[in-house]
Amino acid sequence: MTHKHKTQVCIIGSGPSGLLLAQFLAQAGIDTIVLDRRDRAYIEGRIRAGVLEQGTVAALEDAGVADRLYAEGLRHDGFDLAFDGTRHRIDLVGLTGKSVMVYGQTEVTRDLFSAREKQGQTFFFNVENVVPTDLKSDKPIVRFRQNGEDHTISCDYIAGCDGFRGVSRAAIPSDVLKTFERIYPFGWLGILVEKPPVSDELIYANHARGFALASMRSKTRSRYYIQCDVADDVALWSDDRFWEEFAARLGPDTAASLQTGTSFEKSIAPLRSFVAEPMRYGNLFLAGDAAHIVPPTGAKGLNLAVADIRMLSRALITHYNASNDIYLDTYSETMLKRVWKVERFSWQLSTLMHQFPENSPFEKRMQRAEFDYITSSEAASKVIAENYVGLPLE
Ligand SMILES: Cc1cc2nc3c(=O)[nH]c(=O)nc-3n(C[C@H](O)[C@H](O)[C@H](O)COP(=O)(O)OP(=O)(O)OC[C@H]3O[C@@H](n4cnc5c(N)ncnc54)[C@H](O)[C@@H]3O)c2cc1C
Repeated sequence: MTHKHKTQVCIIGSGPSGLLLAQFLAQAGIDTIVLDRRDRAYIEGRIRAGVLEQGTVAALEDAGVADRLYAEGLRHDGFDLAFDGTRHRIDLVGLTGKSVMVYGQTEVTRDLFSAREKQGQTFFFNVENVVPTDLKSDKPIVRFRQNGEDHTISCDYIAGCDGFRGVSRAAIPSDVLKTFERIYPFGWLGILVEKPPVSDELIYANHARGFALASMRSKTRSRYYIQCDVADDVALWSDDRFWEEFAARLGPDTAASLQTGTSFEKSIAPLRSFVAEPMRYGNLFLAGDAAHIVPPTGAKGLNLAVADIRMLSRALITHYNASNDIYLDTYSETMLKRVWKVERFSWQLSTLMHQFPENSPFEKRMQRAEFDYITSSEAASKVIAENYVGLPLE
């Protein structure tokens, strides 16, 4: 027997994109069903992003889920770029009048789940064999299995919020879908440690031994990364080996204030730039990592996802509550323009800050020259600052 369900918008994926979309649509009285191949505890436990642009903070406030963010988040008015131990501060507030907020993706997800649960959201967790079909019809269908039983959801629209490895993007015919990809020849080894951060603000460091990032999740919890071989086994990286490498890349002046300890999370993530075009096919809309990936340099992944959802929710609400499809019809084009600009920034900052195995001494001198230019030119610093705090939605 197949269980049949109906809704206005079926949302595939309950990461930040899917949850925020469900929250915005619920506020406007639009019915949604959310499905995910994982369960809530697993999704809440995923350690990922942590730097929120002002536009993202405003979106979470509009969604009614910013109380804890304002109480516990850390406002950052700047960050440092470092080259072989020399630091240069990018004064975000001085250069743009804006700041960013440090608040973990785990917490954003928790806040959204709590809000959705309080309002009686219909979730299907641990689903399998999810297939979005009939995408060009005015009643697309999502089929899936849960606990050995078949289900179908008939809806007006499908939101593909199922991340990079989801099924939504793959449902777009191959003669329509275009993809663009750059895979970087290294990964990031990241750790979490219950120690105060080495600096009040983030430090992105380029060193002859490789990139390092000193980040944080709170005043007592640090998130540190180093560039590594993406094929490395995390077991090869003892805490001692990590600390030695991290301190060397920060340089002696900064490393003098480093508090080391036992890490409680350690993982290696690959770095990739990726864009899928278009972000709409029939009545399927892609949002977040389902449509694009950026390397984490510059902290744009989660912020890009939230920007998509700001526009997609506006488009769906305008359709249902004002019978106007203007934003639905322009969603893909509008967001792709913005996505490519953010891709450019993440790629450029990654190119500036990492050691690339294929780089000749010429490219290394180019990196150094660019750093020297940024440190000596307010205009160059401002370009970085305005991208870092977040470009306008459209
Ligand atoms: C290891 C890692 C580290 C990161 N670090 C940073 C960072 O430091 N800074 C930053 O800005 N960004 C970072 N990102 C990116 C950021 O986390 C993502 O951009 C953000 O999670 C995107 O949200 P999303 O909801 O679009 O996708 P996701 O968070 O990936 O959520 C997609 C959801 O869809 C579900 N799903 C997948 N397939 C299916 C299916 N077939 N059926 C149903 N459900 C499905 C998944 O279980 C998941 O819950 C990182 C990402 C990773 C993977």
